[in-house]
Amino acid sequence: MSKNIIKQSDQVIAKTYARFPIVFEKGSGCTLWDSNGKAYLDFVAGIAVCNLGHAHPGVAKAISEQAEKLVHVSNLYYTIPQTELATLLTEKSFADRVFFANSGAEANEASIKLARKYYSDKGEKGRHRIITMEKSFHGRTMATLTATGQDKIKQGFSPVLEGFDYVPFNDIEALKSRLDPSVTCAVMLEPVQGEGGIRVPAPDYLKQVRKLCDDTGTLLIFDEIQTGLGRTGKLFAYEHFGIAPDIMTLAKALGNGLPIGAMLAKDHVMEAFGPGSHASTFGGTPLVCAAALEVVKILSQGRVIENGRKAGAYFKEQLMSLKEKYNVIEDVRGIGLLLGLKLKIKGVDIVKSCYEKGFIINCIQDKILRFIPPLVIATEEIDRLVECLDDILGKLE
Ligand SMILES: *Cc1c(COP(=O)(O)O)cnc(C)c1O
Repeated sequence: MSKNIIKQSDQVIAKTYARFPIVFEKGSGCTLWDSNGKAYLDFVAGIAVCNLGHAHPGVAKAISEQAEKLVHVSNLYYTIPQTELATLLTEKSFADRVFFANSGAEANEASIKLARKYYSDKGEKGRHRIITMEKSFHGRTMATLTATGQDKIKQGFSPVLEGFDYVPFNDIEALKSRLDPSVTCAVMLEPVQGEGGIRVPAPDYLKQVRKLCDDTGTLLIFDEIQTGLGRTGKLFAYEHFGIAPDIMTLAKALGNGLPIGAMLAKDHVMEAFGPGSHASTFGGTPLVCAAALEVVKILSQGRVIENGRKAGAYFKEQLMSLKEKYNVIEDVRGIGLLLGLKLKIKGVDIVKSCYEKGFIINCIQDKILRFIPPLVIATEEIDRLVECLDDILGKLE
């Protein structure tokens, strides 16, 4: 059965992903089952998407009840789920207003447009350049792949967009010398870099970035698409650093698997988006908003995030003990349940051994094993993966 599906899929789907030969059929909590009935513990969670675990009963109920009531109407009208979701997101964050999109890249695209429009409306038309970080990841649309500070993502897509400058992450002096308030409208960054290798900045870096933006009247955009919604042990990663951005983008975990993106901003910034300036047919449609509303309600109760924070601390300790034991491990990094294990060798074979043994993990930047399980993970489940890694690494030495 699964062999046939893989063969058929490889004939009809664009070849943009190097897939592992597994056909997943169902999930529950941190467990996934393939079409042969084999169970796996999931340390990828759809890439930091299913923070509440698979097939969460509350989210499933919210989806099915809303599906029977109203799936979609145009943004020419008002709906209750969209209004309630935006209200909750603004209550729980620095922001006053929300624009809904369908993905992370679209939310970032909206933030790029908003930052430019903000200064255009002020009559500062030359102020349209955006500074982003080397090794950042912001998406795959033309504007967001331009914003992304990784050459491999831009290969073959020239010409990219005008108006982006890049500086090393976690280097305030580099940012200071690059930022020119006569042309720079915004600084855009991930508070903790995800795809670029789980890179946590120095404790005061983001505060210094905030101050530089304040001193120069530059907008600060946080891409919290991966770090947001409990992943780092707080609802939003910026809360760790005692500052807030002017614009923040969310997606991934917001719908626990349903496609939704959001751009949040302070009132005076969002002012620049008036009728006709930006739009999305599906953005904020009632079905996905009902699911996301349930997700944010559950996360706001704090219990799931607290579990994730504790599990992350425990997990990191276990990874540190592996590092003590195995020379092939160069570094353990991350915060909350956004964790990475940097190896001195390529990680793909370890990922393969893991899935053969019933564990789903992934590898970024060739050498970094990434662990981003659902926040509801139990320590006993972490122990099982650590044992498995211990076993695999032991055989390598
Ligand atoms: C995943 C991700 C994106 C892109 O989101 P899509 O929904 O795939 O478009 C953008 N920024 C960050 C930090 C991400 O992790």
